Amino acid sequence: MDASDLLRNSLLQLSKSGTVRQTIEKAPVSRSVVKRFVPGDATADAVAAAAQLRATNRLATIDYLGEDTTDLSQAISTRDHYLELLRALAGADLSQHGMGEVSLKLSALGQYLPGDGHKIALEHAREICQAAGNAGTTVTLDMEDHTTTDATLESLRELRQDFPWVGAVIQSYLRRSEADCRDLAHEGSRVRLCKGAYKEPESVAYQGSSDVDQNYVRCLKILMAGDGYPMVASHDPRLIEIAGALAAHHHRDADSYEYQMLYGIRPEEQKRIADRGNQMRVYIPYGEEWYGYLMRRMAERPANTMFFLRGLASK
Ligand code: FAD
Repeated sequence: MDASDLLRNSLLQLSKSGTVRQTIEKAPVSRSVVKRFVPGDATADAVAAAAQLRATNRLATIDYLGEDTTDLSQAISTRDHYLELLRALAGADLSQHGMGEVSLKLSALGQYLPGDGHKIALEHAREICQAAGNAGTTVTLDMEDHTTTDATLESLRELRQDFPWVGAVIQSYLRRSEADCRDLAHEGSRVRLCKGAYKEPESVAYQGSSDVDQNYVRCLKILMAGDGYPMVASHDPRLIEIAGALAAHHHRDADSYEYQMLYGIRPEEQKRIADRGNQMRVYIPYGEEWYGYLMRRMAERPANTMFFLRGLASK
């Protein structure tokens, strides 16, 4: 394990630590530091960010931050934030034809509640899907750690019976993902392929970055050859180039797949991809619960950690 793997593992460990979280949240972290990755706390901040992206031909998928809820009232509040967000997107003319869609974490909607958690999260997701359908847009179910993969794919199957446009996420670090891609490469299926952002054991996940990348390419080949709608979620120039070559090889039109990146990461590349006529969707997280999200971004890239620490030091 080299130094960057050590840093990554430590930051992913810290992303789960309540004590560190409280310390960092209370530190005088200027909003301008967090703001590079999270445009704000309020619905209006997320809608304004989507409108700005729209002005440069970029699409949006918006995530109300929060995860691992074991409190029913918090899960209900998360659902209500999504319903408000979808109303606001429609009101700002940003939702039609899937232009501004939403990304959901089932754990934020109650999946971990004792007893009926799975059912409660599914019901909340169903209400959000109904509202998204009314607003003319779509929903993607984010993928969390590997203990939830089966439950999330099961919820996907159930939701798709009524809302066939609900999208899934597959993580290339998981050893199972090629098989999941095969299952999901059918007509009407929207699949976001990413590397994966959680700390996972070797028994289920590739640990080395080149193994994760190679599996990404294997998964991409299946999705691009299939009949579904691949969503290539990566900032990795090599993988983006391979995705383009595979799309050309399979004679895919520019509107039969899309690229996705995170808000605040490689914005110039996002614009370049949109300007050359490809679909580019940006994942916008918003809300007060930015800690876990920010720690995962820092774990991915030492430069992100330096940006954050420099911001802290200058306050
Ligand atoms: P990395 O290995 O992080 O980076 C590869 C290369 O990309 C770098 O070497 C560099 O050349 C370039 N690069 C990366 N960051 C920068 C930067 N800041 N500036 C310049 N160049 C850079 N994960 C989940 O587990 N579940 C999800 O549901 C999920 N949804 C996602 C949705 C979207 C739209 C995106 C983009 C990611 C999502 N992720 C999700 C996170 C994902 O799994 C990765 O953790 C994250 O995208 C980093 O992986 P990467 O492919 O960008 O490659």
